[in-house]
Amino acid sequence: MHLSSLLLCASALYAQTSYDLLLKGGHVIDPKNKINAVRDVAIRDGRIAAVAPNIPAAQGRKVVDVAGLYLTPGLIDLHAHVFAGTAGPMLAGGHTSIFPDAFALKSGVTTVVDAGSSGRRNFEEFKRTVVDRARTRVFVFLNIGGSGMTGEAQEQNVDDMDAKAAAELAMAHRDTIVGIKVAHYRGPDWRPVERGVEAGTLANIPVMIDFGEFRTERPFQELVLKKLRPGDIYTHAYYAPVPMLDDNGKVFPYLFEARKRGVLFDVGHGGAAFEFRQAVPAVRQGFVPDTISTDVHSGSINSGMKDQLNVMSKFLNMGMPLEDVILRSTWNAARVIRREQLGHLSVGAIADIAVLGVEKGKFAFVDSFGARMDGTQKLFAELTVASGKVVWDLNGRTRDHWDRLGKYQGLGEPYWDDSRGAARPMPAPASK
Ligand SMILES: [Zn+2]
Repeated sequence: MHLSSLLLCASALYAQTSYDLLLKGGHVIDPKNKINAVRDVAIRDGRIAAVAPNIPAAQGRKVVDVAGLYLTPGLIDLHAHVFAGTAGPMLAGGHTSIFPDAFALKSGVTTVVDAGSSGRRNFEEFKRTVVDRARTRVFVFLNIGGSGMTGEAQEQNVDDMDAKAAAELAMAHRDTIVGIKVAHYRGPDWRPVERGVEAGTLANIPVMIDFGEFRTERPFQELVLKKLRPGDIYTHAYYAPVPMLDDNGKVFPYLFEARKRGVLFDVGHGGAAFEFRQAVPAVRQGFVPDTISTDVHSGSINSGMKDQLNVMSKFLNMGMPLEDVILRSTWNAARVIRREQLGHLSVGAIADIAVLGVEKGKFAFVDSFGARMDGTQKLFAELTVASGKVVWDLNGRTRDHWDRLGKYQGLGEPYWDDSRGAARPMPAPASK
């Protein structure tokens, strides 16, 4: 046989099985690329290799039917607490961080951003014990307080809020630290906010604000209209103390002004920061969040918040279209942290994928104050793919039938492949 025809045979054979994983028939919602249609999605070497109406099944080494389900970019939770372990933070009320793989992947979340659990004194320990060990991709908002959220005394210690030192650490860890967090301050002054913004300016990264105790000496309006820069984030958007509705239930115009300035509003549901009495009227009037996030910790996970999909379902039932809910849990969040390689399904992108279902029926949702809202639809995660690997498979869609396997040996790879951080590329920040 002639050499060129040999090569032709080889390449034809390769084309036969050119994808590691082929997800067929799912309804793709990829807001960045404006795709909202049934598409097949092919993955090779941990990246999206093709998105097309009909990719032949013969081209996939593993072919999974996901018809009837939505296929979206892996979800990004912009506000989480994952500094788990003995040295991790003790939030107010005794709630603590949770190891990310314990909750994220099973709800379609492939990337979490820890919101200030660590500060410059314990960031490296956090990185070593959690960030580098998790299969979930973990980015960090570094707390402006030196010791993060390790206790009330540390969180109120303004003397240990060092903008220059925080910025230097952030610049030394650009692959992990994506922003600065200011949180839980109860004093009457602006120093924590100002030092957070100073650190963010020095390191050229955004600042996320939890405004702590709302006080007349430092009005919230001034925070979002003057103190924050475009691209900075106010989290806990529907927290009860936020001045949101006037006596007639109308959203105050200053909130739209703040948004026009470029200040971003994140949900940060948490254990005490999401109130239907704020959110339902505000969403109806168009004051919707830029990003949907959990503020997950051991308290919120077991009360009204539950998980990312439950928070997203609340917005779905408040009337937000599914595509907008997905946008606020993927591409918008990626842009906030300037990781524009994430949050979409462009060919060549890291293959982080959530395959979601929407169950129809009678459901109810609970806010941080125990108030209930009824609903008719609820999201669930059927399959999660992180960097091209299946990390969550609710109904064994990717697995072979037990009575067709013969002896349970030589399956090629163990079902639970514990390769952890190795399977999780950390994209570099977008240059700006
Ligand atoms: Zn938080």
